[in-house]
Amino acid sequence: MASNNMATVPTYAPTPYAKGNSFVFPRGSVLPSRCVKCAASATEPPLKKSFSWHHPALYFLALFGLFPYAIVAAIVQKRIELNIPLCEAHKSIRTKRLWIGAVLLLTCIPVPWVIASHTIKDDGTAFCVGFLLGIGMFVTGIMFTVCESPLRATCIGLDSAEFTGACPEFLASLGDTPNVQAKVSAAGV
Ligand SMILES: [Zn+2]
Repeated sequence: MASNNMATVPTYAPTPYAKGNSFVFPRGSVLPSRCVKCAASATEPPLKKSFSWHHPALYFLALFGLFPYAIVAAIVQKRIELNIPLCEAHKSIRTKRLWIGAVLLLTCIPVPWVIASHTIKDDGTAFCVGFLLGIGMFVTGIMFTVCESPLRATCIGLDSAEFTGACPEFLASLGDTPNVQAKVSAAGV
């Protein structure tokens, strides 16, 4: 008898929902097949990406050294994997940015050195210009490669995670309320 009652309880199907300029992604849910950057139809396959997050207060540990911070962060940080829907155009933009970033990182030492040493006669000035140019190329390369994710995790919990970076049209397609009805049904009310 008890098993029959269990069988009639509807299954809780968590769905992502908008929350201000971010959205909440319950673990186990699926994002709609619309590009997160422009809300156009997404192309397969989605971008599979792993996110990690820890409370921002933990950054204070870095004041005592990067090693203690890295150890604690590795232990307490939470992770989540997301299939990010993107359209063909935004996939192409991302690929180009990754290539540009990789080229900048690979050439941030020889290119500034060659340019500075062949265009500036004074060795001291050439070194300073080459150094600054190299730093600029390195930082831009890092931004184009490490910070290439279309979304950014602002909080990751045991049951859900919050992300920013999606366009307003995509957020509007999610709705702004959690799947309360499904939750109530799942509780057997
Ligand atoms: Zn797009």
